[in-house]
Amino acid sequence: MKIVFLDRDGVINEFPGNGNYVTKLKEFHFIPGALEALKRFKENGYTVFVVSNQAGVGKGIYSQKKLDLITRRMKEAVLKAGGKITKAYYCTHTNQQNCDCRKPAIGSIRAAMNMMKKPLSHAQHGYFVGDTEVDIAAGKNAGCKTIFVLSGMQDRRFVRGWKVRPDHIVKDLLAATDLIISNGHRSRRKAK
Ligand SMILES: [Mg+2]
Ligand SMILES: [Zn+2]
Repeated sequence: MKIVFLDRDGVINEFPGNGNYVTKLKEFHFIPGALEALKRFKENGYTVFVVSNQAGVGKGIYSQKKLDLITRRMKEAVLKAGGKITKAYYCTHTNQQNCDCRKPAIGSIRAAMNMMKKPLSHAQHGYFVGDTEVDIAAGKNAGCKTIFVLSGMQDRRFVRGWKVRPDHIVKDLLAATDLIISNGHRSRRKAK
């Protein structure tokens, strides 16, 4: 099953700065190559979900409406570039709310697998791409293969201090896309 989970900030769009959020459309800028990456996923038959923590909503820093607008415009731009984000899942809760969707929890991945009418165990055939430890932890918790991209908040030195290890470390989403697609070709060849 060709399925990819992407974190948003620092993976698809420029990380907005330490401890900060994308609070308005003006602050949303695609990382170079990200739109091309999403196009390649689509061309190669991958289903792409966004799984993002946006506690800024829960904290009242920006509204759900603003987040919805940013999402709509992001998805439109991706479509226009020949890609597709099937659904963006956001956790808008704060740390204190103990929800099951704030990464490293996997409520959103579970919901995405439900939407695909697949058991959660099928997530092991998918990839999680993120720029922080919680992304890699969420991916691992769901059984996904994980890719740490260096286009966001943290560089590769951070990994040493993490409790989890990503399966791969690459420059950005475009490099991750190439890796996922070529691994996909390889495993299908093996399966024959
Ligand atoms: Mg991020
Ligand atoms: Zn949540």
